[in-house]
Amino acid sequence: MIKNPEFYLIIAGGKIRCRRCKAQSSRTKLQCSKPALKGKAVCGHHGGYSTGPRSKEGKNRIRAAHLKHGEETLEAKAERSAKSVMFRYLSDIGNHCNMFYKQLTTRGRPPSGYAKLDLTDPEQLALAILKTMPRK
Ligand SMILES: [Zn+2]
Repeated sequence: MIKNPEFYLIIAGGKIRCRRCKAQSSRTKLQCSKPALKGKAVCGHHGGYSTGPRSKEGKNRIRAAHLKHGEETLEAKAERSAKSVMFRYLSDIGNHCNMFYKQLTTRGRPPSGYAKLDLTDPEQLALAILKTMPRK
């Protein structure tokens, strides 16, 4: 990738100003001097005609190829967030019942999906208990 690519190109003797292909030549290390295709950043020679994977199998294959580990997938993030909500409610319930020798404090912003409940209300206490149950 070129650091400061030129974005525009004047062609047809100064009559047409168009986007310039941003690809870098592997041989000369210079920016490609062809105009980019309409709506694209590269010329046809540098992959402007490529549509990428279209079929469902092809898209899944690309996703699997780009996955180095499952640590930061959307599913892993959602699972981690659900668990932290669950533990937040557990610690709220424990604090409410004086289960710990001192009140547990948490740091940072509350996880998304967590709403502070008034545990003196039995309905909200039951809701908090339900939220500590693992889903599935
Ligand atoms: Zn090009």
